[in-house]
Amino acid sequence: MNRLQSELRRIDHRGYPAYKDLRGSYDFGKYILNIEHIQGDPFASPSSLSVKIKGKAAGFPKEYYNGYDRKTAFEDFILRRFSFFAAGISFKAKGSGKSGMVSASRPGQEIMERSACKVDESTGDIILRFVVGFPAGGRSIDAGELEKILFRLLPGVVEKSGIFKLFTENEKVKLKEQIELSDDQKTLRKAVGENGFAAFIADGSILPRESGVSERPMKNAVLFKSPESMRVTFELPHKGKITGMGIKKGVTLIVGGGYHGKSTLLQTLEKSVYPHIAGDGREYIVTDATGVKLRAEDGRSVKNEDISLFIRNLPNGKDTKNFSTLDASGSTSQAANTIEALEAGSRLFLIDEDTSATNFMIRDELMERVISAAKEPIVPFIKRVGQLYRQRGISTILVAGSCGAFFHVADTVIQMDRYMPKEITKAAKEAAADYPLKMHGISKDGMCIECTDNSQNMDNINENPEIEINGERKVKLPKSDDRTKIKVMGTDGFLYNKTNVDLRYLEQITDAEQMLAISKALEYLIKKYGGKEISLNLLLGDIENLMEKKGVEALTGRGSVPDMSRPRRFEIAGCINRFVK
Ligand code: ADP
Ligand code: MG
Repeated sequence: MNRLQSELRRIDHRGYPAYKDLRGSYDFGKYILNIEHIQGDPFASPSSLSVKIKGKAAGFPKEYYNGYDRKTAFEDFILRRFSFFAAGISFKAKGSGKSGMVSASRPGQEIMERSACKVDESTGDIILRFVVGFPAGGRSIDAGELEKILFRLLPGVVEKSGIFKLFTENEKVKLKEQIELSDDQKTLRKAVGENGFAAFIADGSILPRESGVSERPMKNAVLFKSPESMRVTFELPHKGKITGMGIKKGVTLIVGGGYHGKSTLLQTLEKSVYPHIAGDGREYIVTDATGVKLRAEDGRSVKNEDISLFIRNLPNGKDTKNFSTLDASGSTSQAANTIEALEAGSRLFLIDEDTSATNFMIRDELMERVISAAKEPIVPFIKRVGQLYRQRGISTILVAGSCGAFFHVADTVIQMDRYMPKEITKAAKEAAADYPLKMHGISKDGMCIECTDNSQNMDNINENPEIEINGERKVKLPKSDDRTKIKVMGTDGFLYNKTNVDLRYLEQITDAEQMLAISKALEYLIKKYGGKEISLNLLLGDIENLMEKKGVEALTGRGSVPDMSRPRRFEIAGCINRFVK
């Protein structure tokens, strides 16, 4: 009899805390069961367990998990199966609290590194993490029920999800397809970047989602079809030729009537910094992985940021080269978001006028005439967007249905017409020529000058003609508390001890698991660097390095590993920038 079985029989019917004696590792032949953390009572969060399937027993072809992308796709596949089968053995035991509940991470539409499933590239060992509500009758241990879960139900689940031999032919094909899709996505991403594109959307893609709360594809959606003038073809290793719309680097404007699918297109691009699973409709859509959605965020705090590229001469005399506030306005918040993305290394800005501060984006001629530029603290984004690309290589994809002024500064204009893209660059430019853009700027010597038309002229009228990026801005995280308590609130943010960290407007955070990883990254950095002035990019580099070497699970210190998905540096930066006060 297994050592765990005799332990279980020994503690049966005793007080619930006696479950704690079960902590440890148990050999089940093909796998090792690890009981890592045991809940204190039947109503507490369920206990954390993991299994490690031995590489020899698992027996998957090694080429399925060599290299980061394949490995991630492989782990994703195993985890989805495991959590599906685990949910199947979950039952509401007669007992109290969470008795009998079994569950593992349920990935959404993205394929991303998750702590819940890890394969060791050299041994082929597979670790799967999950939770079990240890059963109780009232407050006393119901060991018989736990024995049933761990000895009768779980082995089947582990074997069906993690032992190649036991896969049906159909499942083997599906796994192979997932690995091949991952190869294709990797190739596509590389080709898109190398050929001068900021994004690519394959013909036949499904852009809209089922609903505001479901990331599944909309049924009966109008399928994407590229306009001929923007059509490009790439060759993928498994799928072969793929055709779609290439959005060139530079300034791209998306226009069109209300309800014609502009925001849907932009949201698709926001999400496609990550790869999507087969059947999602966005499998062959790729956005530059450094793409950041920028929006207004009234009320956010800003700490020691140089926003003078966009805002200067504030009436209260505040220094915008070193700007701090606990309650930013629409325009200053969007300026801060933009500068922060720049600092963290973004090469693509994604902006929707629906969620932008109008006065940050544009100022019309009449307003310029009435309020002289010298009195206006904001240099609107329209004056910087071309310069950002020419001087810094930062592209912008901008939804602007109501403001034609952007025609002057756009390299490409796409019209969404009943969910179909059309390229209208030429027509838009011709029409724009009849309406020269008159904008005022401030020359280097502080004079108010006027210029017309194209954005090249505009570069010369701005006070700081060279865009400088401060890669060395320092932040000071608070000293570490003895104990930290973190509570994640979905994709809205988290509580860090008593501090509410509001990240609702970092719209590219994928799920609560990524939010938890971000909060753990913050905790890690506070422990290591709290109380010291450190360059933000050094902090980000440290975290990325750690995850690169040891995986996302390295963000937790000792103890059991919670479910986390790997965050990007931009969302971690966003968290730090909102946290420091
Ligand atoms: P806009 O930003 O141009 O006003 P939206 O992108 O918000 O328009 O789209 C309006 C509505 O149309 C949304 O409810 C969206 O789900 C739906 N929609 C978008 N694209 C498609 C499509 N390709 N097929 C069917 N419905 C779509
Ligand atoms: Mg819209």
